[in-house]
Amino acid sequence: MGISQNIKNLRATLPGNVRLIAVSKTHPMDEIMEAYNEGHRVFGENRVQELLPKYDALPKDIEWHLIGHLQTNKVKYIVPFVSLIHSIDSFKLLKEVNKEAAKSKRVVDCLLQVYIASEETKFGLSDEELFDLISNTEVQSFQNCRIVGLMGMATFTENQVQIRNEFQHLFGLFKKVESSFPFLMPNFKELSMGMSNDYEIAIEEGSTLIRVGSAIFGDREYQHT
Ligand SMILES: *Cc1c(COP(=O)(O)O)cnc(C)c1O
Repeated sequence: MGISQNIKNLRATLPGNVRLIAVSKTHPMDEIMEAYNEGHRVFGENRVQELLPKYDALPKDIEWHLIGHLQTNKVKYIVPFVSLIHSIDSFKLLKEVNKEAAKSKRVVDCLLQVYIASEETKFGLSDEELFDLISNTEVQSFQNCRIVGLMGMATFTENQVQIRNEFQHLFGLFKKVESSFPFLMPNFKELSMGMSNDYEIAIEEGSTLIRVGSAIFGDREYQHT
């Protein structure tokens, strides 16, 4: 099956409250344009150095999401145009986004990435770090970034029960943050969870944003973490 058919099929199955982010990392621009020509406008990349040339060359009505680990020194390159940063995992990074967004006269939407998997390699905040970060009065004063939700990646496993448990845990954190920090409302409403292998479970467990790469574009020849 081709990219446009994959996009069509996927979108046909999604509930109305769930948005599809087509993860185009490692895939060339003509493949992105195939999805674009099918009417798709929301794309995710995980590396700044790959996102920038794609942003420059491709249509300006594309909504770009940065989904991968972000280094503080790269923030300034994406803040002028990025729609949503999924991978805020430290105070320092959020502070930098706020500072650079002010220079661009923008308010940049951000998700806090929480570590929910049992693997060593995944980035993200622990539950405790998540609450500490939002409790920080300096964070609460930021004018140029908005915390609009949480993001998490389940363990890469065949074990559906484990994946479901990890998503349920993230959903629970989402609800707890919502009730503990009224200042985040009404913006705090996004839960980014679910990839090609587990988006169906993620949707059942309350996802509002799924990040799907290989199920749309096919296998990647190389994989970045
Ligand atoms: C690559 C990537 C995805 C998409 O992965 P697939 O398994 O190809 O759907 C989703 N989220 C993040 C953070 C990624 O790096």
